[in-house]
Amino acid sequence: MSEIETRLAHVMDRIRAAEKRSPYGQKVTLVAVTKFHPLEDMEEVIGLGVKEVGENRVQEMEGKYKALTVPVRWNLQGHLQKNKVKKAVAMADLIQSVDSLSIMEEIDKRAGEIGKVQDVLLEFNISGEESKTGLTPDSLEEAAEKAGNLSHIRVVGLMCMAPEYEDVELTRPVFREGHRLFEALKEKFPKGQISILSMGMTHDFEIAIEEGANMVRIGTAIFGPRQYH
Ligand SMILES: *Cc1c(COP(=O)(O)O)cnc(C)c1O
Repeated sequence: MSEIETRLAHVMDRIRAAEKRSPYGQKVTLVAVTKFHPLEDMEEVIGLGVKEVGENRVQEMEGKYKALTVPVRWNLQGHLQKNKVKKAVAMADLIQSVDSLSIMEEIDKRAGEIGKVQDVLLEFNISGEESKTGLTPDSLEEAAEKAGNLSHIRVVGLMCMAPEYEDVELTRPVFREGHRLFEALKEKFPKGQISILSMGMTHDFEIAIEEGANMVRIGTAIFGPRQYH
């Protein structure tokens, strides 16, 4: 077994165990976060059964998108700049990082130009950390209303991140609030449309699952530390 194969198997075991501890009975989808890792690593996990990959930057995604020859679902989850939206919409199956009303409008416009309805998640900044982007929980109603009026985006759920507390248990109230907002969001859209609660990364995904996450975004635990360059 390669290192990645061993790590992935371990992550899957931990996901399945956390699912069993969750009171919500949800099934969890893994997004393998491949940012700063080479195409070969992406190909390897897809070969091992991973169905979804996540990238943060449009430019890096584009390189891999053009080179990859096997099917996968593409998630974009980094803060998106307006001038990158056109490319993002051309590639992404799901844009997880809709963190402002203005970026929502731009996605709608660019998706309209290519006759696409873009699936998106609203990203909420729940912990109130100023360094993080995201909609404020107070703006849920306004954001949902705005999205409902745009014909080329479809909100299918919510994404959030917890601060990197040393004591990971401290993330629990953040994820609990994420779940509460997820339920509130369901009320604002047609039945069944809001189905994805994306929360949990390498250091905190088990707690996120226990609090109701049905999508986790994991990089380091699968691929090892990122080599920034
Ligand atoms: C990088 C990143 C991840 C994955 O982080 P790991 O700690 O490596 O698992 C997940 N979500 C977002 C939004 C990220 O930027």
